[in-house]
Amino acid sequence: MNKTVQSLQRRLIALGYPLPKFGADGDPGGETIAAVGKALDELQTLRALSEPLFPAGTSSSTVATARQALGVGGVIPSDWMPAAKMERIICHWTAGANKASEFDRGHYHILIEDDGKLIRGIPSIKLNEAPAKKGYAAHTLGANSGSIGVSLCCMGGANEAPFDPGKYPMTRAQWDALTSVVADLCRRYSIPVTDRTVLSHAEVQNNLGIQQRGKWDFTRLAFDPSVKGAKACGDKLRAEAKAKL
Ligand SMILES: [Zn+2]
Repeated sequence: MNKTVQSLQRRLIALGYPLPKFGADGDPGGETIAAVGKALDELQTLRALSEPLFPAGTSSSTVATARQALGVGGVIPSDWMPAAKMERIICHWTAGANKASEFDRGHYHILIEDDGKLIRGIPSIKLNEAPAKKGYAAHTLGANSGSIGVSLCCMGGANEAPFDPGKYPMTRAQWDALTSVVADLCRRYSIPVTDRTVLSHAEVQNNLGIQQRGKWDFTRLAFDPSVKGAKACGDKLRAEAKAKL
């Protein structure tokens, strides 16, 4: 039994972290450590919400990286999102490896690697403003004008039926980063979350009436096999992105 630990535990209890199993027993066990972690998380969130954390002149990518680490605010550096009139966001996978290649970067505005890291594509979002300009991101047949293309780096060599995610399955970290990216883009470009404005490539044919060539990104989520079909995957994407708005 340690007096310092006990006084910390009493303080935690007073702050509303109840330590239900052991109370202020003076023993620094898992329950106390978890309560301290929770208190620190809440403090960080509070600070990020209540004071400017970054000195004037801090680059937007530094701010975005720090905010991403803290789990607050936007994840996309603001200089990746130039002023433009954009109508929708189409989400893809690259059908490549789990890191962004130069080829991948040529076809999308934002890529997400297996650990959730964001990589900027080569074309600017502005080039896809309708009507699309030379050098635009060609990500969706007949639907590139007005569309932002986001892609998860995964699913190279995958097979739809029977389902086999191959060597580079989609990860939960990628998916969670995707829903944050979609929320940021919706905020920045005032895009409503509907099945015609936030959708996966696999939904384009049905929801926009524009024929595609057998695209199945996304009809299966490798990290959650219970979700099946383009609509189920799309509904999950929209619900989770909406929750982050
Ligand atoms: Zn696609």
